[in-house]
Amino acid sequence: MRKVDIFKDIAGRTDEILDALGIDQRSRFRHIHCPIPCHDDHRPSFRVDVQKERFICSCSPIGGSMIDLVIAMGHAENFVEAARWLRRKLMIQMTTVKPFRIEHNFVEDAQDAKEAANRDDILRVFSHCVDVPPFHPYLVKKGILPLGARYETTLKSIVLPIHDSEYVFRGMEYIDDQGNKFCIDGTKKSGNGLMLGNPDSSPVLCVAEGWATGVSVHMALGGVPVLITFGAGNLSAVKNFVRPEQKVWFFADKDESGIKAANDAAQKLDPIGVVLLPTLDDFNEDFLGAMGRSNFIKMKHQFQDTRRQK
Ligand SMILES: [Zn+2]
Repeated sequence: MRKVDIFKDIAGRTDEILDALGIDQRSRFRHIHCPIPCHDDHRPSFRVDVQKERFICSCSPIGGSMIDLVIAMGHAENFVEAARWLRRKLMIQMTTVKPFRIEHNFVEDAQDAKEAANRDDILRVFSHCVDVPPFHPYLVKKGILPLGARYETTLKSIVLPIHDSEYVFRGMEYIDDQGNKFCIDGTKKSGNGLMLGNPDSSPVLCVAEGWATGVSVHMALGGVPVLITFGAGNLSAVKNFVRPEQKVWFFADKDESGIKAANDAAQKLDPIGVVLLPTLDDFNEDFLGAMGRSNFIKMKHQFQDTRRQK
């Protein structure tokens, strides 16, 4: 492993590295208390220079590269181990969901007492969520993995977190086992969404209005980053997420409002976004259709029968 390779691979990904290390992202803007074990600072002494991709602190050793930070945080003993640790962490994040964070003032930041109560409820529900169980009827019907999703056991609903372009938690949407969708009161959906995959170094950012469609696109195209906007009316949220020079592909639903909303949102981008239409009603149906008459279809029906008999 040549030294130059790892620095090339982690270039521009300081925010992801901080997330992987569990270090407060605000250290990119101001001093925070030093997260390095054994450094018990009285005044916040640690910060990160994103331009130089180095951390600065008064503790020993005095600052260093992101590799040094991995070692200082106790995840590796030496350079080679630290490079391997980073590769593993950053590679895994490429194909799943980037971690988002819940701000400490999520509830206090509400407009009024009612919204504060709603947000308090959101946090309560979200903290009790578990992994989505296999054979959930919506997953079987759509033929997708529960990417980015959690599960609420009382309502038997899929729970999808919604975050902003800084990966700050803004609320959530439920999908019940009948496939009905609703946003929870207190959620700020407009301008926000759920990102699948890692868009940071991707030349293309994909957008879909629904979760099942977004997961289908992500899976069918080998893990491309997809922003899910939870409604056609919110497709323009992509303008908050897109990076300079990044192309945007809208995977529109084939209905009047879906096509119009995608075209409107695409026109507002610079460069203008590309609107792609499915062969069938939406890209999840196209994704399922790709299985065609294969034996996978028989297994899918078998799953559904098994579940009905339970
Ligand atoms: Zn320190």
